[in-house]
Amino acid sequence: MQILIADDDVVSRRFLAKMLEMWHYEVVAACDGTEAWRLLEQDDAPQLVILDWMMPGLTGPMVCAQVRDRAREPYTYILLLTAKTEKQDLVEGMESGADDYITKPFDAQELKVRLRAGRRILDLQTELLAAREALRVQATHDPLTCLWNRYAILDILTRELNRAIREETGLGVVMVDLDHFKRVNDTYGHMAGDTVLREAARRMQASLRSYDAVGRYGGEEFLVVLPGSTDSSALHLADRLRETLCAETIDFPEGSVRASISLGVTAWSRGVPPTPEMLIHAADEALYHAKALGRNRVEWNGLVPARPEVLAG
Ligand SMILES: [Mg+2]
Repeated sequence: MQILIADDDVVSRRFLAKMLEMWHYEVVAACDGTEAWRLLEQDDAPQLVILDWMMPGLTGPMVCAQVRDRAREPYTYILLLTAKTEKQDLVEGMESGADDYITKPFDAQELKVRLRAGRRILDLQTELLAAREALRVQATHDPLTCLWNRYAILDILTRELNRAIREETGLGVVMVDLDHFKRVNDTYGHMAGDTVLREAARRMQASLRSYDAVGRYGGEEFLVVLPGSTDSSALHLADRLRETLCAETIDFPEGSVRASISLGVTAWSRGVPPTPEMLIHAADEALYHAKALGRNRVEWNGLVPARPEVLAG
């Protein structure tokens, strides 16, 4: 584990570094508070830190206060090294945000124990961050397809629409529905149905641009948000989705199907800004037409009428 030590006294700094290396720490040394702060500001800075109290420039507590001000994650565990023994000073040091202190000259075993306590705190925090991240993923993703869930994709739609309006760019919205999905479930069972949903989701995700977003809107319905897209580019992307999806069969133990999708497309790029609901409604209506006209096709429904050459192309 990396550990940062800062001490302006070269002898005690080297002594400390030797000892820490003996305990298998990877030591990063700073000769004063200013250098320590510079190192701590970098990405991947050591999380475990020993700061001498009295240093020219920035003192230990000052560095400490700056680290806490920044409040970056993951947590930085700071141990102050001090020759001071007066209670008032200690209070001041701890109020700067230090986690612990040890008085010089210190006992090696005591330092070892204190560092172990620090590492335990850091380990716990790492677990906590991982758990929080897992919860965040759980709360925003559909467990079956791993796409955004309905809540998250609607949130993205709202955010991207606001951005499009603010920056005067375009936004395309596509409502997608797997054709004859019930037939797959009825014929091959729900496990096969799940495989088809997962694979359809994977193919759609793979044929989108990195800044596009796709979410599972309902059972076999998906909502695609295309930032920066105007009518023609949204239609083009929608057709690419359709082609990618039906290009190959989807296989599962019970058999295989050539799945297809119907898509309803709308886009906004100029004129009166719509609400997210208006976009979804427009895309939904277009999807309805795509279904009515025989499925496996893309239909357009503009908030403003699309140019005839776009629909023809
Ligand atoms: Mg000093």
